[in-house]
Amino acid sequence: MNLVLFGPPGAGKGTQADRLAAAHGWPKLSTGDMLRAAVVAGTEIGRKAENIMDQGELVSDEVVVGIIADRIEEPDCQSGFILDGFPRNVPQAEALDAMLKDEGLRLDGVIEIRVKDRILIDRIKQRISESEEVRADDTVETLEKRLEVYHAQTAPLLPYYEAQGKLRKIDGMQDIDNVATQIEGMLEELSGDGA
Ligand code: AMP
Repeated sequence: MNLVLFGPPGAGKGTQADRLAAAHGWPKLSTGDMLRAAVVAGTEIGRKAENIMDQGELVSDEVVVGIIADRIEEPDCQSGFILDGFPRNVPQAEALDAMLKDEGLRLDGVIEIRVKDRILIDRIKQRISESEEVRADDTVETLEKRLEVYHAQTAPLLPYYEAQGKLRKIDGMQDIDNVATQIEGMLEELSGDGA
């Protein structure tokens, strides 16, 4: 199954994508993880992306679309994959639809994990107070910027997927196990839709 996990930064997309990957064997494709790996490796993409990421802005569509286009051609993606953090705006979603069509694939579903901004801010404060090492973009100020970017550029994708009949919504303020159980239920429903 080809899925998108959708939601604001800190909603738990990565955690749920890891669970789905472990349960079903579908690779998790996280553009954030791939960009962070490029920063650590010091590649040209990494050098260009680092500042933008630290400021909570979006890396260029050209870069992230290129990364995903290369990745979904890999053999391990042929029986399904989970996108985490991509697409993040309408042009990226259109590029995804086009590249899947070229591969003879399609998106089966988009699961939105909904969490209120206030709760996300509380979560990050807690994380900062509990951990010794935090990511460079793991600050309250950067999260506020990332939330602003999410509402302005990423949330407008919801009607795009709603119009395609692919959007399912879940309350991400429940505990992690409940969210996981509900996602599994949605997968059954989505596979019943002809996926
Ligand atoms: P994430 O781990 O998904 O929250 O991503 C961390 C950062 O990487 C984001 O704040 C962006 O700067 C960048 N990034 C990740 N995915 C994308 C994307 N699809 N488009 C643009 N920038 C992205």
